[in-house]
Amino acid sequence: MRQHSDSYPTPPQDDSGRRRVLIVGGVAGGASCAARLRRLDESVEIVVFERGPYVSFANCGLPYYVGNVISDERALLVASREMFRTRFNVDVQTETEVTAIERSARVITVRDLRTGTSRTERYDALVLSPGAAPIRPPLPGVDLPGVFAVRTIPDSRRIRSWIAERHAERAVVVGGGFIGLEMVENLRKRELAVTVLEKLPQLMPPLDPEMAVPLQKHLVATGVQLHLGDGLARIEAQDEGGLVVVAESGARLPADLVILAIGVRPETALAKAAGLPLGSRGGIVVDAQMRTPDPYIWAVGDAVEAPDVVTGQETVLPLAGPANRQGRVAAEAIAGRVTSFRGVQATAVVGVLGLTVASTGASEKGLRRAGIARFEKVYLHPGHHAGYYPGARPIHLKLLFSVPDGRILGAQAVGTEGVEKRIDVIATAIQFRGTVHDLAEAELCYAPQYGAAKDPVNLAGMLAVNVLTGDMPVADWQELSRTDALVLDVREPEEFAAGHIPNAVNLPLSQLRSRIGELPRERDLWLCCVVGQRAYYATRFLTQRGYRVRNLSGGYTTYTALKGCGVVP
Ligand code: FAD
Repeated sequence: MRQHSDSYPTPPQDDSGRRRVLIVGGVAGGASCAARLRRLDESVEIVVFERGPYVSFANCGLPYYVGNVISDERALLVASREMFRTRFNVDVQTETEVTAIERSARVITVRDLRTGTSRTERYDALVLSPGAAPIRPPLPGVDLPGVFAVRTIPDSRRIRSWIAERHAERAVVVGGGFIGLEMVENLRKRELAVTVLEKLPQLMPPLDPEMAVPLQKHLVATGVQLHLGDGLARIEAQDEGGLVVVAESGARLPADLVILAIGVRPETALAKAAGLPLGSRGGIVVDAQMRTPDPYIWAVGDAVEAPDVVTGQETVLPLAGPANRQGRVAAEAIAGRVTSFRGVQATAVVGVLGLTVASTGASEKGLRRAGIARFEKVYLHPGHHAGYYPGARPIHLKLLFSVPDGRILGAQAVGTEGVEKRIDVIATAIQFRGTVHDLAEAELCYAPQYGAAKDPVNLAGMLAVNVLTGDMPVADWQELSRTDALVLDVREPEEFAAGHIPNAVNLPLSQLRSRIGELPRERDLWLCCVVGQRAYYATRFLTQRGYRVRNLSGGYTTYTALKGCGVVP
């Protein structure tokens, strides 16, 4: 965490003795800061300025309002101006934009957007929670009618009206991240045909590419068209009505409406104009108490940089959990309490048409980007509960951990049931700087309909411990095309016949003890089965017989995902 100075300034006060705390932005970070501060200090005056018409609305719920899952717009209003006034004695001024900060005089300029008039307001403490704005690339056609971003209630209201009035049948979603995918789900719920245009060759950029493969397959199976590895070039209006999204490749994707969901950018114009420093990731620089280098100004939420607890590097993370926690920390700091924001670890989940995708900590590509090389990974595909209880559904799980200490670095999971529960457990372990030994030992809920005596989290930890102890050395899938090792597939012949790794040799686990003499002693053996379990048993048996053995972690199931995204040929 950055440190701006060794000590705090004396809490400022005005002549009347009543401190004035002004908050810019009245949604996740701003609203939680206001409410927490009031709970800590009855004496301060708190005023929240919000540019939009609503305070504390559920922006995370907006896609579901488009999809009519939430049909009553009022459900999105978590709190109202009136509630802030009566319950917390907080003055919320909506449709009021803060346009300038004069730090030396400790005043801000605010403009009433209804009347267009401006005035100044004095502060003793100022909190910035302006959020992040959807990126609108400067490309032809992005401002055409029928092209939408999703940030506010009026945005989603406009999309709903457009669908209804135009009888929209086809949508193109540009961007395959969280918000794009939530829009895919909700537009499908409105029975629109949906195409996703994504510049990267995979959906969900925070995931490693092979972990996005089950998601991509699932979307295609549910009728969503994917156009991956191709960027947006322009959007054209058709004479007969409707739009055409033109990709960089020249592909033309017809649409009745277009959703732009290519990411967000921290709203830092106000801070920058006031001379507050921005970090290398473009967010406002704050310390662990969410204070900017100006001792009277704090900043929280999507607009700030925070340290990543895994890589230690500063990052911007536009998620509601960190924004709420940071708002709370800023309130505590302003109230003079000892407090500290721990950092972020990118714990996130998205549900798309019955599939859940969740992740926490660093991805493999994120670790490489951060220059962290000493790590290992395991893949596993356990059922979400005991296999003997009807309805067990696989969870595809990847766990990354450092070597040799086993510290958990990150995890990603995809499946239909129990996915976010496992990622939440691992996320908590990461927060406590836990190791894979902790996951192996974790005592978790078990009854047949919920889990297994060895929960997927335990299994992930146990596999990783096996890697660390050398009981189950793992092979690097990316070396598959270059290795001299004999790839030995220990599944049954009919499973092998249904599909296998090129050049693999089949020797089923059930025959391994009797046919061990057929195996060459001089070659490395890389073992594969469906998910890695039988290969592990074979690894233990052969290792103890003096063979040099490695396990292809996650087995043929992982192989098909890696092949599906081109990581292995
Ligand atoms: P915001 O909540 O965006 O609030 C900032 C407010 O400041 C805005 O209302 C803006 O009008 C106002 N403002 C900006 N500048 C000024 C100014 N100069 N004067 C006055 N007011 C100003 N996160 C999750 O963790 N899970 C999810 O499922 C999820 N889903 C999402 C779905 C959508 C469609 C969107 C848009 C976001 C979603 N998020 C989700 C992200 C989450 O909403 C944000 O991370 C969070 O709201 C950030 O809080 P914030 O206070 O920084 O900014």
